[in-house]
Amino acid sequence: MSDLHRLSIRELSEGLAQAKFSSRELTEHYLKRIAKIDTQVQSYITVTAEQALAQADAADAAIKAGHATTLTGLPIAHKDIFCTQGIKTTAGSKMLDNFISPYDATVVAKGKAAGLVTLGKVNMDEFAMGSTSENPHFGSTKNPWNLEHVPGGSSGGSAAVVAADLAPFATGTDTGGSIRQPASFCGLTGLKPTYGRVSRFGMIAYASSMDQGGPMARSAEDCAYLMNVMAGHDAKDSTSVQKEVDDYVSNLNDTSVKGLRIGIPKQYFNVQGLDADVKARVEESLKKLEEMGAILVEINLNMTEAYVPTYYLIAPAEASSNLQRFDGVRYGYRCENPVDLMDLYKRSRSEGFGTEVQRRILIGTYALSAGYYDAYYVKAQKVRRLIQQDFLKAFENVDVIAAPSAPTTAYKIGANLSPTEMYLGDIYTLAVNLAGLPAINAPVGFDKNNLPIGLQLIGNYWSESQLLSVVHQYQQATDWHTKRAAIAEENA
Ligand code: GLN
Repeated sequence: MSDLHRLSIRELSEGLAQAKFSSRELTEHYLKRIAKIDTQVQSYITVTAEQALAQADAADAAIKAGHATTLTGLPIAHKDIFCTQGIKTTAGSKMLDNFISPYDATVVAKGKAAGLVTLGKVNMDEFAMGSTSENPHFGSTKNPWNLEHVPGGSSGGSAAVVAADLAPFATGTDTGGSIRQPASFCGLTGLKPTYGRVSRFGMIAYASSMDQGGPMARSAEDCAYLMNVMAGHDAKDSTSVQKEVDDYVSNLNDTSVKGLRIGIPKQYFNVQGLDADVKARVEESLKKLEEMGAILVEINLNMTEAYVPTYYLIAPAEASSNLQRFDGVRYGYRCENPVDLMDLYKRSRSEGFGTEVQRRILIGTYALSAGYYDAYYVKAQKVRRLIQQDFLKAFENVDVIAAPSAPTTAYKIGANLSPTEMYLGDIYTLAVNLAGLPAINAPVGFDKNNLPIGLQLIGNYWSESQLLSVVHQYQQATDWHTKRAAIAEENA
């Protein structure tokens, strides 16, 4: 079968169960595509062909013996921020170029237990800091819709592999938009769960109070299958919440769009730099939801201007603390021939970290230093609380909140935006992480250059089922999520 990569997760699961094809055939199919097509997309840092085929054979045996779960034998790609036992985990950094974790991240372990087959580890912005996946050490991953453009970031590799059909779904992480923005740039569906829903154990830390893993795939239905594997309490993550996990797949039809109150924040649609095509497509998608019975309600989110400065204080502060461990002694890259201990620290960190990571460490260290702690860090935490309260107030009157996922479509590779320009591109995603809320991106059309555009729906705490369900209804009534980039149509 030459078109296995066109099947949805449900179709793949059914096909395997009915022995229409084996996990080995499916895995070989994807490995062949990777070998041919990833030379152009450059999304994989590591392809684990041998292990994948062994896992596929084990999956086939489990299916034959009747021990299969829904996803047994389906291939997946993991963002290279999730630790994988025996397989290199780089976090996209020279600092961890040779790091082999002694254990699996909980997300990876849960995937294995469900019978998923790991195709490999995919590229990202270094330590998840960035929005383009232009990696200083591993190179730039390309957007499958136009290879001269970025796939977004930081989970750009995860988005690119799905959009180019080099994996049926992938894990991503979202600290300030890193699932939603690349999903938007690559025409995919991506869910950032409520903080505490998915275990952070074994996920290399960027900003621990906001980091959250989630699924990236073509549709809400595909994401729901992966959420069923990823979500759940984990005693190894102290911020993981002990709360019953929904069955996201069986809940897909539970929320009716009829009567759903969708909040439209006035401030979001007057943002300077909001691209006209993005605005138009997002508004059309909201019109469609209105036709389907939703009620659009204008709301105020008065803290909008504070999102970017607040996030870009708190995230670097936490990063500067998390990244202290990479000193070339206990952890990480060590420079050649250090003359003394100071030289070893300095050069290991200067050579091992790229420019953007160094910038964040400097900003964060400054904000946390004794003389400035109250003026910057404590102040930012207070503003963070106000941002959260702004959302809670809005949710008294609406069920979900709509926004673009990003003000523009995918940037050109090498566009070389200044840090401030880059940070402003995160205006629509950051508040969700600051408040710990769940949010989803759904593809809703294209700009004049045929680059994808995404609608973001933000939900109240623990409303993952509702978000997936609303997007599922929308995807039953539209076909944006079925569009494929030309490179995905190529056969291997
Ligand atoms: N662009 C954001 C940043 O650079 C996104 C990070 C993320 O979600 N990992 O911090």
